[in-house]
Amino acid sequence: MPTREQWRERAANLEFRSLPYIGGEPVEPAGADTIQVIDPGTGQHVTEVAAGGEADVNRAVASAREAFRAGSWSRADPAERKQTLLRLAELVRRSAEELALLDSLNMGKLITDSYTGDIPHAADVFQWYAETTDKTYGEIAPSGDGDLALVTREPLGVVAAVIPWNFPFSLASWKVAPALAAGNSVVLKPAEQSPLSALRLAELAAEAGVPAGVLNVVPGYGETAGQALGRHPDVDCLAFTGSSEVGKLFLRYSSESNMKPVWLECGGKSPNVVFADSEDLDEAAERACFAVFWNQGQVCSSNSRLLVERSIHDDFVSRLLDRVRGIRLGDQLDPGTKMGPLVDETQLERVLGYIERGRGEATLAVGGERVAIDGGGCFVEPTVFTEVANSSVIAQDEIFGPVLAVIPFEDEAQAIEIANDTRYGLAASLWTSNVSRALRVSSRLRAGTVSVNSVHANGAPIPFGGFKESGFGRDLSLHSLEKYSAPKTTWIHYG
Ligand code: NAP
Ligand code: MG
Repeated sequence: MPTREQWRERAANLEFRSLPYIGGEPVEPAGADTIQVIDPGTGQHVTEVAAGGEADVNRAVASAREAFRAGSWSRADPAERKQTLLRLAELVRRSAEELALLDSLNMGKLITDSYTGDIPHAADVFQWYAETTDKTYGEIAPSGDGDLALVTREPLGVVAAVIPWNFPFSLASWKVAPALAAGNSVVLKPAEQSPLSALRLAELAAEAGVPAGVLNVVPGYGETAGQALGRHPDVDCLAFTGSSEVGKLFLRYSSESNMKPVWLECGGKSPNVVFADSEDLDEAAERACFAVFWNQGQVCSSNSRLLVERSIHDDFVSRLLDRVRGIRLGDQLDPGTKMGPLVDETQLERVLGYIERGRGEATLAVGGERVAIDGGGCFVEPTVFTEVANSSVIAQDEIFGPVLAVIPFEDEAQAIEIANDTRYGLAASLWTSNVSRALRVSSRLRAGTVSVNSVHANGAPIPFGGFKESGFGRDLSLHSLEKYSAPKTTWIHYG
């Protein structure tokens, strides 16, 4: 792993892409709007990127449609799509240093996470979906004598993907890889806070052999570029990851335009339930810290509610607080840093607002302040509130920052009730050495993923998504392919 100085030097020599990538090349945008990219660790200006608007979205969708009609990708031999996506996976691996730096500089993610986590994971995702292209079969449906009913899966056409800033490159792979594997053309809009790695992805895809127009990237603002995709009459499917609030807008855009299917991966307020019979309370405390402070708490499945059985509550909280006090804040490009900056000033203000709110609702056990590193940056201390009522605002709203609400419970039934008392249902964790309890409680938790004696269980072959206002549809796994293709029946009457 390079040192902080080496990473900073490499960052200073990075080349940035700044234009929408449409029809196989960077193009001048129709308007003059821009996005200013700021390093949240230093507050320094990094670069400027064009903010695409409706005209650019229209151009990208037209280019995607044209590529889809031409068929060089949509009707390509599956083996050819596979080889192309395998090449892309390899190019992502080879560009890991550059891509990791782009994401870390852009949104403050730890370089250790992006270099050893996000980017290799994204490469795995491209590889995994590459391998599905020549391993997914059609069906023959039961039919009467003299008839043959072939059921094939067809790509939908133009898929639009709108994604957030917390895992810029890996969430792009979650949408783009299965959509391309299924034979669609794609228009990707990254979040305004993190456009850099998506623009590079478009180039790498072209280098791998993805035909011009099959993957287009339009950086831009949600209300303009995002809305234009949501309302576009020629977009066949919209895949969204982001807040529940904006997810609901996409449902409206669809109903007011062409009824395109919309798939939503939205927010969460995930519980982490620690029972007194957990085998290793130190391990549980260690993972509880990671569960909420990883990526500065800017994780959709962040376990931001910690439910602790009353009989071990004080002991467990003290083990937890010891660890929280040891978390070192610092430059996200320093491999020794344990927690970096929040994505930007807006997010920081939002998080500090919730901390203020929490001071009136519960006991602040540690943290709670903004801190300056080397004189600046968007840093907030890891913060823990104890004796939190589950009905309070800090236990119900998704803060999307390093703020943990600790909630005591008396018994299993109450733990389940509190865990499910939320409008979200993305993830949950539980800690116990009793296998019957693990299975029983898992089955009663309303969450898309339940991790037992672990947190943030995730991987390319495993479906990820939520219940309730966390959205619907699943990313990753073979299930994701179902979102980007439709069953097509061909009846053949042969007498
Ligand atoms: P966000 O504000 O909902 O934005 C997500 C995307 O939607 C961005 O590309 C954004 O563009 C765009 N957008 C914003 N307003 C829009 C509008 N009016 N019309 C159309 N598009 C619009 O979310 P975020 O702040 O980027 O990310 C944090 C949220 O994402 C959290 O709620 C988190 O839980 C969720 N998340 C969920 C998952 C999951 O898999 N379930 C994963 C990661 C994050 P701009 O960048 O221009 O705002
Ligand atoms: Mg936003």
